[in-house]
This record gives sequence, structure tokens and C-alpha cells, in this order.
Amino acid sequence: MVISLIKSLLAVSIVSGLMTLILFFIGGINPIISFSSIFFGQIFVYYLWTSVVAWFVALENKRLENERIAYFNIQGIDVGCAYCRKKTLVPINLSIDNDYVCEHCNKENSIYINITTTQVTNPLAVDRLSVNAFIDEEELAKKAIIEKENV
Ligand SMILES: [Zn+2]
Repeated sequence: MVISLIKSLLAVSIVSGLMTLILFFIGGINPIISFSSIFFGQIFVYYLWTSVVAWFVALENKRLENERIAYFNIQGIDVGCAYCRKKTLVPINLSIDNDYVCEHCNKENSIYINITTTQVTNPLAVDRLSVNAFIDEEELAKKAIIEKENV
């Protein structure tokens, strides 16, 4: 971090020094004024450049986020046509009316969406009925029937 900062300041200083020398020998401009102007000018341009890039990146991120939200609003579902009962994959968008034309019979259909809620249930804390237990109970029942017939 500190080393990269020193490298950047050194590069800016070298560029400012070279530009100052050129301006001094060609135009006779005051070296202190030209060096400080070029030095701080470069820092200002760099700040302006990073700010503009950050603004563009933030704008692009916002656009992608909006695109993603719009995409999540749309989901496809297989529905049967109200006329011919043939299945068609129709995009469902919760923010608009969902009408579609059946690709089999070319008749217009409307999709009605009914959203309900339900209670969350927890499984009972008992052992599940296993196949073996079921067979054992069946065998016991058969034995009981046989014993009953023999008595
Ligand atoms: Zn149809």
C-alpha cells in the first residue's frame, strides 16, 4: 500500500519534472508554478478519472440489479389451454395481466393466479411405520385368524 503510493507519487513527480523542464526551456515558464500545477493537475485528473469510472460502475451495477429483479418477476409454467386442454409453457409475470394465445388452437387464454397461505407443520416425534413392521402385523393377524378358526 505505502510502496504503491510512493511509486505513484514518484511517477507523478518524474512526469511533472520532465514537463517542467520542457516548459522552462521552451517557454521560460516559472518552474515552481509549472511543477506544482502539473503535479496537482495530474492528481486531480486521476481523481476525476476514478470518480467517473466508479460512477459508471455503480450505474452498470444498478442496471444489472434492475434487470435481475425484472427477470425474477418472470417465471414459466406449463398450463393447459382452456379450449383444447393441450399444455403450453407460458411466462408468468406477477406485475401484469397474463394472457396468451394457445399455440395449438390459436385461441386467447387468461391465466388467473390464486396465492394462498398454509400453516407450517412439524413431523410427529414417532417412529415411521416400516415395511417390516407392516409385514409383522400382517403375519400376526393371519396367525390370529388361523388360531380363531382352529379353536
Ligand atoms: Zn388451445
